[in-house]
Amino acid sequence: MSGPGFGPRKPIVAGNWKMNYGPAEARAFAEQLVEPLSHLRSVERVLCPPAISIDVVRAVVGGSGVVVGAQNMFYEPRGAYTGEISPVMLQGLCHYVILGHSERRTYFGETDELVNQKAIAAYGYELRPIVCVGEHLEDRDAGRTERVLTEQVRGSLAALPIDRLSDLVVAYEPVWAIGTGRAATAQDAADAAALIRALLGEMYTSEAAARVRIQYGGSVTAENIAEFAALPDIDGALVGGASLKPEFVEIVRRTAAAKGLPA
Ligand code: PEP
Repeated sequence: MSGPGFGPRKPIVAGNWKMNYGPAEARAFAEQLVEPLSHLRSVERVLCPPAISIDVVRAVVGGSGVVVGAQNMFYEPRGAYTGEISPVMLQGLCHYVILGHSERRTYFGETDELVNQKAIAAYGYELRPIVCVGEHLEDRDAGRTERVLTEQVRGSLAALPIDRLSDLVVAYEPVWAIGTGRAATAQDAADAAALIRALLGEMYTSEAAARVRIQYGGSVTAENIAEFAALPDIDGALVGGASLKPEFVEIVRRTAAAKGLPA
């Protein structure tokens, strides 16, 4: 889908390796992926290794069209923040940074306000944020999905530069679907994407919102990706478990095919 007067959004599939693959394993796996991924140019392909492996993966994928993302960062450029990595450190190494993943929100107490500070910082250092939102199962069962997503979108995505919303990726990741093997239905994903885009339209403008790419994430596999990628409002996927396997290449290929793009 394209907004009025704007070109189509390029699909984007990102692999979140989470806390897997230190430098040696990351190099070996990236070497396996890079050749087949290099041909799938109609989709933006992003590998997000752990911070310690970013540099080796970057070296392997350099020149292939595959780009690297970080899984998290702090918003300050430098200072006494033991254990953190900063946007300054990632600038030039990564094109993207995942922010507000549900594992960061759940295990490390990240709030919408913090995620928003990080997203604003990412823009300051030429990093494109992939901001994750998604409801817990209790929220969905209690009919609170819309309220939770509204709070997260309004809180995490405030005050971004309106002229650069084409650099923003929002990943709709229902928490109950992450790593569980129980993906959302295509209708769930379509409803959430429509809500997210409508909210962004209210916060910015509908033209700016039409430029934002929205991914689905949660137990995506090569088997189910086509259902999601076929949705006009879904621009790709954030993939966890299946991104640790060569299956990731097939997910990218099927995303292109579902969008009617060369694969
Ligand atoms: C994720 O970690 O963002 C994710 C969607 O994981 P999985 O694909 O394993 O559900």
